[in-house]
Amino acid sequence: MTFDDLKLSSASLRAVRELGHTKPTPVQAAAIPPALAGRDILASAATGSGKTAAFILPLLEALAAGKSGSARALIVAPTRELAAQIAAHGTALGKYSNIRITAIFGGVGFGPQASALKRGTDVIVATPGRLLDHLTQGTLDLSGIEHLVLDEADRMLDMGFLPDVRRILKRLPRARRTMLFSATMPPPIVVLAKELLKDPVRIDLTVHGQPAAGVTQTVYTIDQNRKGDLLLELLKGNEIFSALAFTRTKARANRLATLLARHDIPVERIHGNRSQAQRTHALAQFKRGKCRVLVATDIAARGIDILQLGHVVNFDVPLVPEDYIHRVGRTARAQAVGDAITFVSKDEESSFAQIEHKLGRRIARAKTPELPPAAPTPPVRTRAARGWR
Ligand code: AMP
Repeated sequence: MTFDDLKLSSASLRAVRELGHTKPTPVQAAAIPPALAGRDILASAATGSGKTAAFILPLLEALAAGKSGSARALIVAPTRELAAQIAAHGTALGKYSNIRITAIFGGVGFGPQASALKRGTDVIVATPGRLLDHLTQGTLDLSGIEHLVLDEADRMLDMGFLPDVRRILKRLPRARRTMLFSATMPPPIVVLAKELLKDPVRIDLTVHGQPAAGVTQTVYTIDQNRKGDLLLELLKGNEIFSALAFTRTKARANRLATLLARHDIPVERIHGNRSQAQRTHALAQFKRGKCRVLVATDIAARGIDILQLGHVVNFDVPLVPEDYIHRVGRTARAQAVGDAITFVSKDEESSFAQIEHKLGRRIARAKTPELPPAAPTPPVRTRAARGWR
């Protein structure tokens, strides 16, 4: 199937071509035709599957017909990064369609967003909290919404946003079309879907519990205290050109970034304590190749889109198997091939065993490279001096 087969407008086809997308991904091939026909959609599709274009392209076609400048489509997403990314992707896809897209999320000024809304927009991409702020302040009117998209619904549930989402839903016209995308379908999302969707087309493209095909997964068994040295060693070789490294906590993310910087490795960080401006900067630096390692915690990294990302390093084993699959999903996106490397210490063996159980197979343990002798432990006075624990 080609994009030409999907009956998109010439404006959309031109934008798709310019983005270098040669053929629709499976979720696009499955969702675009019914979405163009105005159907409700319930799709299980992971990040990296091309789901953004799967809902944006049909929205652009639907909106081209109506009156421009009034908010007619609302896309709700769990994180600022994802909202910003959807808005950017939508703007690129809508380059020739004369559709205005406005992103609304926290961590940045309220005033400029209110002004943008006042000037008029066709599509709003928003995180739940800031959207509710605008509704409370009366700077946003959702009475004209004809199309609703809930993206990464399972993550909204994980992050405790479901009550906010329900409050937003109350402010939307009943007569509308809804599309719900979620990597997984836990029971509360199934309940929400039943309430919201009218005779939806069901699309299920997840291979349950499996990262995308094409990801090479490797495990190193390593002492908790030597994880930093191991990463430095792997970065010394040419094996890892650039990597997204996940840590369990914000403090550990900071500490790892400090260690790498001390060894002259260009590094950036994204986590919940960083401002929106800092996160955007970090991501931009990484995408431009200006830093080699982007250190992140799970929530901050959810949904971020880095094309051609070579490696994911699980510096810490995630506590829940789903997070492993999400993390590893950052690599090998859209048909590129990548690697996921996991550092497993003794006390993480049982968490990792659960992940392997979920994957239904054991991941090969690689031989840990020879590391330089550990630096003598300095007298323990500060938290930082106590090492990685
Ligand atoms: P998403 O799952 O929407 O976050 O998309 C993942 C990545 O795949 C993004 O960088 C898109 O630009 C890219 N992408 C989306 N559709 C296609 C396509 N048809 N062909 C190649 N890459 C695509």
